[in-house]
Amino acid sequence: MSGIDTFAIVGGDKRQVAMAESILSDGYNVCAVGFENAGLKSGITTASLKDAVKMSDYIILPVPATTSDGYLNAPHSRTQIAVDDEFAKTMFDKKIFCARAEDLIAASPIFSNMQLYDYSKREEFAVNNAIPTAEGAIQIAMQEYSGTINGSRCLVTGFGRIGKVLSKMLKGIGAKVTASARKPKDIAWINLLGYSAVLTASLASASAGSVDFDIIFNTIPSLIFDADVLARLPKNAVIIDLASLPGGVDFDAARKLKIKAIQALALPGKVAPRAAGEIIKNTIYNMIEEGQL
Ligand code: NAP
Repeated sequence: MSGIDTFAIVGGDKRQVAMAESILSDGYNVCAVGFENAGLKSGITTASLKDAVKMSDYIILPVPATTSDGYLNAPHSRTQIAVDDEFAKTMFDKKIFCARAEDLIAASPIFSNMQLYDYSKREEFAVNNAIPTAEGAIQIAMQEYSGTINGSRCLVTGFGRIGKVLSKMLKGIGAKVTASARKPKDIAWINLLGYSAVLTASLASASAGSVDFDIIFNTIPSLIFDADVLARLPKNAVIIDLASLPGGVDFDAARKLKIKAIQALALPGKVAPRAAGEIIKNTIYNMIEEGQL
């Protein structure tokens, strides 16, 4: 990519550490902010936020950019950096790659007049991220379910990106896969790909009887597993909720019913930080190469 010299990587976890190393190995300069305790590879420079922004062509913020209490998501930082008007002003005239731009705008309205490029809204980011997410979900299932995945009756609710990737992986290791969807076209694909299909709404219908699965993976970001549906599951079922908060499971009800329900969030960064860092980097490179910045 011609004309680019330096990226500032401002905050992040192991994914951004891996991404910084990868960008460096592509021949660009990388200036990192908020990684004092990360043990960064030599060649990656560190600087104050102000200096890093000044010397960089592009700023990369992490996913998510902010913590719930309004600081930069920077677990390797020695100090907390508030994401506020001051933070926004520091990078006012720069091009900023971020995830969930709406969170930044909520933290400071100044961001709404800035050049934000949201990589998390890109299809290739979501599709590629579905791979480590599905692998992480299967890893949890292997830890939490007392049987083997092979031969187990798995329900995947939602047939979007994660639902598709996860169904394929589960089938590959011999699970009996049922996938749920609400659109006829998705039901058609589910059948065509050799899974059993169920309408998501029918899970909620008491007349449907028991919901007989060993492992349930929810990808729908809406309450699907309420107390009524949970009560119709076998007591030894394991539910792994992958959907973003507030998720799709009534965890209080699951606890009362003694059903094992696990909220499994941010899996790409936990199970495959290097792959997750590459996914972010490649998405950003695609955005730059498309030249719409
Ligand atoms: P997606 O492609 O949008 O798929 C979501 C699926 O849920 C679609 O099948 C969609 O159906 C269905 N759905 C949504 N709302 C529904 C409702 N009210 N009733 C019934 N079905 C509904 O999303 P994705 O990329 O697979 O991601 C799924 C979730 O996982 C998101 O919340 C995402 O933020 C989260 N996520 C989690 C991790 C993790 O580590 N746990 C990682 C990445 C993403 P339609 O197509 O009919 O709308």
